[in-house]
Amino acid sequence: MRVLVVEDEVRLAQTIRRGLELEGFVVQLAHTGADGLWAATEDSFDVIVLDIMLPELSGYEVLRRLRARDVATPVLMLTAKDGDYEQADALDLGADDYLTKPFSFVVLIARLRALVRRRAPQQPVLLSSGDLALDPARRTVRRGEAVLTLTPREFGLLEFLLRHKGFALTKSEILRNVWDAHYDGPENVVEVYVGYLRKKIDVPFGRTSIETLRGVGYRLVDPAGTGEGQVQDESGSAPG
Ligand code: CA
Repeated sequence: MRVLVVEDEVRLAQTIRRGLELEGFVVQLAHTGADGLWAATEDSFDVIVLDIMLPELSGYEVLRRLRARDVATPVLMLTAKDGDYEQADALDLGADDYLTKPFSFVVLIARLRALVRRRAPQQPVLLSSGDLALDPARRTVRRGEAVLTLTPREFGLLEFLLRHKGFALTKSEILRNVWDAHYDGPENVVEVYVGYLRKKIDVPFGRTSIETLRGVGYRLVDPAGTGEGQVQDESGSAPG
C-alpha cells in the first residue's frame, strides 16, 4: 500500500515514515503543501496523511484543490489541537478522517487500514488463489491449514501479487508498489524477495504459484487450476 505523508515537521514525518514502513507500507514524504499537492496529483496513492499547518499551501487548501481535481484518494488529516472547528472544517472539505496530534501510532495505522478498506469495498476481504489465502486486515497468510509467517516486505509483495492474480507484473511495477518510487538499492531485490516468498508459500507444499516470465517479470497463478475454490474429481468429470 502506498501512502503519501504531507507533514512539514521533518522529524515527525520521518518517524511516521519509519513506523509505516515497519508495517509494510510504501511511504513517500512531502514537506510543503505545494509539494504534497503535486505528488498527490501526479502519482497514485492508496491513502494520504495530510497535516493542516503547512508552508505554501495549508492542508485545507491542498485538500480543496485535490477534490476539485477529482482526486478521490482517501485523506486523513492531522489536526494540531482538538478544536471541533478544525475537525469540522476538515470533514466539510472532503477529508475522510482526522487525527489530533499527538496521536498513537497504533491508532494511525488502524485508521489508515480502515480508510483503504472502506475505499475498496469491491476488494474481497480475503485475497486468495487456490488454497493460498491472505487476510489484509488480520495480516495473516495460510496455505491450506498451515499458517505461514512472512516479513512485512514479503507480505506486501504477496498482497500485491494476489491483488493482480493472473496478470503479468513487471519488476518495476512491483518495485514501485512494494518498495518505493525512489528505491535505489540493487535491482535484483525483487528476484531475491520472490525467492524468499517461494521458499515459504510454494516449496514446502510442492507448488509453483509464482511464475517467472522471462524478460518481463512475474505472475501469480493457481497451479492447481482450481479456480474459485472449485475442485474437480480425479476423472475430470463435472459432478451432476
Ligand atoms: Ca505542520
